[in-house]
Amino acid sequence: MARTKFICGNWKMFKTAGEARELVRQLAPLMAGLARRTVQVAIAPPFTALASAAEAIAGTGLELAAQNVHWEAQGAFTGEVSAPMLKDLGVKHCIVGHSERRQLFGETDASVAKKTRAVLEAGLLPIVCVGETLAEREANETMAVVERQVRGALGGLSAAELRTLTVAYEPVWAIGTGKTATTAQAQEVHAVIRGLLRELGGGAADEVRIQYGGSVKADNAAELLAQPDVDGALVGGASLKAQDFVAIVKGALR
Ligand code: PEP
Repeated sequence: MARTKFICGNWKMFKTAGEARELVRQLAPLMAGLARRTVQVAIAPPFTALASAAEAIAGTGLELAAQNVHWEAQGAFTGEVSAPMLKDLGVKHCIVGHSERRQLFGETDASVAKKTRAVLEAGLLPIVCVGETLAEREANETMAVVERQVRGALGGLSAAELRTLTVAYEPVWAIGTGKTATTAQAQEVHAVIRGLLRELGGGAADEVRIQYGGSVKADNAAELLAQPDVDGALVGGASLKAQDFVAIVKGALR
């Protein structure tokens, strides 16, 4: 089935509120003529820039994503932000389980599952990240790791819930390194993820977008996005420059 390609820019810990407004101002005219029916585009600024980005994207067709969330709706969790709080700001999508959060902030399959559920309960759309480290790939553990992460995060969800989410396959060795998975490597893992989703949710698997992430750039985007199970991209570094990000979006239109 035809799935609308979905490109999301993960700005990580870059851009103040004012800088976010400026980047959206640069993106808007570049996005203007693009065929909106065939590609969906979101940006994920840091929490502190969400409000200014929400204002700035009005009328541009861009959607707003958050980079992380707590699994409770409210409570004594100093420093955390909840899904209803994000929704209130105009956020539509939420990245969950990014490898930087798993590696640097101790997130586990169990916490990713709780966050995914909280995002869905708030009426937001999760982008659930999975992917193996270099050591795991070299030890031939890629599929086992991805299977554990997919089942761990999504195992408890209904087919109706699965249908609404996006999975981002992001090999850790490709994130911010300039190394990209080959199209064959990406398609191979995406097809395995699609098979797991089919086990979990039957026909809903055909509606789930599976993004690739890991050093996606203007010059490799179109080829990756042409693979049958690559339904979009989660873009880090290249999403911080308007021209580079829009060139990737254009790669989804070919
Ligand atoms: C990411 O952080 O999700 C990512 C894919 O980063 P980069 O594009 O910079 O590799």
